Amino acid sequence: MSEFLVFDGVTKRFGDFVAVRDASFAIEKGEIFALLGPSGCGKTTLLRMLAGFIEPDEGRILIEGEDITRLPPERRPVNTVFQSYALFPHLTIRDNIGFGLKMAKRPKAEIDAEVDRMLDLVDLAEHGDKKPDRISGGQKQRVAIARALVNKPRVLLLDEPLAALDLKLRQRLLVELDGIHDEVGITFLYVTHDQTEAMAISDRIAVMQRGGLEQIGTPAEIYEAPVNSFVAAFIGDTNFLRGKVSEILDAEYSRATVESIGEIRLYNDRPLEMGEDIALSLRPEKIRIETHPPAEEAGLNAIEGTVDDVIYLGSLTRYWVRVGDQRIAIEKQHARYQLDERLPAWKDRVWLSWRADDGCLLTDFAVEDTELLSLPPEGDE
Ligand code: ATP
Repeated sequence: MSEFLVFDGVTKRFGDFVAVRDASFAIEKGEIFALLGPSGCGKTTLLRMLAGFIEPDEGRILIEGEDITRLPPERRPVNTVFQSYALFPHLTIRDNIGFGLKMAKRPKAEIDAEVDRMLDLVDLAEHGDKKPDRISGGQKQRVAIARALVNKPRVLLLDEPLAALDLKLRQRLLVELDGIHDEVGITFLYVTHDQTEAMAISDRIAVMQRGGLEQIGTPAEIYEAPVNSFVAAFIGDTNFLRGKVSEILDAEYSRATVESIGEIRLYNDRPLEMGEDIALSLRPEKIRIETHPPAEEAGLNAIEGTVDDVIYLGSLTRYWVRVGDQRIAIEKQHARYQLDERLPAWKDRVWLSWRADDGCLLTDFAVEDTELLSLPPEGDE
């Protein structure tokens, strides 16, 4: 891995409060890397230390091997795009974008050419002479991105850049931002509390909680193989099953007894021991729901339950099925090829089945409730 941007043991305290604890990770050149976590987890503090607005108490920050930890913000090869746009209201869009170059006393012809290039990049060529109050929120954010990129930073920092926009516009700007990234090819560090946004745009995501880094990986790695219950619940929805290892079958598989459910087959993500307590995350879409017992298949887990709740969500239906004291969430897609049988309905007896390796063993038991758990992002204060 080319270690382009490195956080090495970075800690930041505000009084006794530790906002960022011993953060060590590296970002590759050209990557879109997201810092994701609930409000107050320390992601903005990390970004501000990189921008130079605050200094770490411990640790170092390096860009291409150069220690920038104590450099003033204006001497760092980074620029920030804020949620609030922070445009100058009395300047035109052109002058807003060209502001940094003007301050740097660059020749007018060069500024004009660079601003034209940026206006094209963010698709605002027709709006250059307007003032910010004459353009929409999405367009303002594109101006803010252009204004940051015109200085040719080596890293673009994006601090919740889309949070002020409505859902459709957010989705559109995400695609545009991805296109801009492809074109300029520089490294993006993207801070968000919105897991969908992080999943959609990032090459890799660092999930944070209470000042610490919980897991770093591609969106698929984090979704499919969360290391602990916090990550499993923060990224999408999941079912938590707790049990005790009752039999080691071979190097790959074992069995565990789970309360209310009985014996299930596990895929050993790590070596297990007899009698060990385990916590398993099982995503709702991995479970098949049928009104008849599933066809025999070696290693398939199959349990019987009763439909407790049914919610129609357009592209899919979400079921909650009661199995003893457990309530299990299942999602069934409405693709026609999957609907050649009657859909289960409220109070139906149903069979749930999944393969052993559909579950993911977690390293902790932090989540108390074994029911489906989804932690909605708390949003900005
Ligand atoms: P949000 O999405 O709400 O911005 P965040 O993950 O970016 O959350 P930070 O802004 O990094 O969180 O803040 C982390 C913690 O540090 C919070 O509890 C915050 O209250 C605290 N904090 C941040 N800046 C300061 C400061 N200047 N003085 C004291 N405490 C601070």
